[in-house]
Amino acid sequence: MRHSNGLGMPASDGSKQVAVFGSTGSIGVNALEVIRASGGRLRAAALSAHSRLKELVEQARLCRPDCVVAADAEAAAGFDWSGLPEGCELKVGAQALDEVAASESVDIVLAAIVGSAGLGSTITALEAGKPVAVANKETLVCAGAYVTRLSEQHAAPLLPVDSEHSAIFQAMLAGRPAEVSRLVLTASGGPFRETPLGELSGVTVSDALAHPTWQMGEKITVDSATMMNKALEVIEARWLFGVPAERIEVMVHPQSVVHSMVEFHDGAVVAQLGPPDMRLPIQHALCYPDRVPGVAQKMDWSAAHSWTFEPADRDRFPALDLGFECAEAGGTAGAVLNAANEAAVGLFLRGELEFTQIVPACRGVLRAHDFESDPELPRLVALDRWAREEINRWICA
Ligand code: NAD
Ligand code: MG
Repeated sequence: MRHSNGLGMPASDGSKQVAVFGSTGSIGVNALEVIRASGGRLRAAALSAHSRLKELVEQARLCRPDCVVAADAEAAAGFDWSGLPEGCELKVGAQALDEVAASESVDIVLAAIVGSAGLGSTITALEAGKPVAVANKETLVCAGAYVTRLSEQHAAPLLPVDSEHSAIFQAMLAGRPAEVSRLVLTASGGPFRETPLGELSGVTVSDALAHPTWQMGEKITVDSATMMNKALEVIEARWLFGVPAERIEVMVHPQSVVHSMVEFHDGAVVAQLGPPDMRLPIQHALCYPDRVPGVAQKMDWSAAHSWTFEPADRDRFPALDLGFECAEAGGTAGAVLNAANEAAVGLFLRGELEFTQIVPACRGVLRAHDFESDPELPRLVALDRWAREEINRWICA
């Protein structure tokens, strides 16, 4: 019989069974590479996708999971599933994600769905006492207090996959949590770090999707261009590590090699670095606490390297102020900022909102909401819906 100790350790008599939620996305595809290269240590027990169902079937043929989840029931109904390999069960709809997250045959959930759509299945996994490897930062931005409380109550660890938070998680091990004075998040600065401010209003979708160092899904790539991604990461760090906003810094580091740093009370700064390659933080979270050989690129120490760091320009990237504001305020602020941003980015990608309007639209919706300091989950879910509608009102005003 297989068993897991619930702490992210491999089952003693077999591979660790991973539910890869969002397997057709950028993180999901990288995760499947990590799993395939793990020499049997990890196994993809379940895969999920929203609408890229052809890719989902191809992945199932390669990875032979026990089941696949097609989260969008409408897309699933019109799809020919005859290519699914024998023995692979098809599950349909968002509730099927919960079923898999709570399943006894899953040891760890990789939360790699984009947006607050990933919230429900992470909550279910934590309630079932499962470790969650969290790529889906929107969950922590929307419901950080709630989710971290659940993680503690159920002794179900949240293992960071976001490269900055993975770096902080690793660097934290150099001291005790009470000895940490500051977290320093690094940011690439995105494609518009040096663009003259006057030219930003003409930014097109393809300009915004041309990230200089990372290959990622569309939403996070646009977030990196506005630096809303870093704003969300400040909030994510606040909840994951319990460090208040005033002790979190952001430094622009265009080479994306130093993934973040922790400063301790004695002044020592501990960093984690490596080439920009998400396969390392994914593997770190899935295999934690073990470090094993993997497919992530290694540093080339035969070459010279120059790494630069500069303070983030808050005038160029006004999203950062919103991130710090929401990290400090807590309560309902993160849920509203996150949903407003998801909606605004969606509008920008469809050509219905200018690039430079994304952040003002988010600010407008944030200011318009009735702040509550200690909301229950249903209130957060309602505000997520409200903020998406409010963005449409804001752009029509
Ligand atoms: P992506 O757009 O490439 O993939 C998203 C995945 O989520 C796809 O599998 C898609 O089918 C699924 N999905 C989309 N909407 C869904 C819905 N409503 N219900 C269920 N499934 C849905 O995104 P990505 O770049 O892989 O990012 C995934 C998450 O990881 C995001 O939260 C992102 O912020 C975070 N993250 C990504 C990177 C990266 O390098 N890509 C780095 C750090 C953090
Ligand atoms: Mg990141």
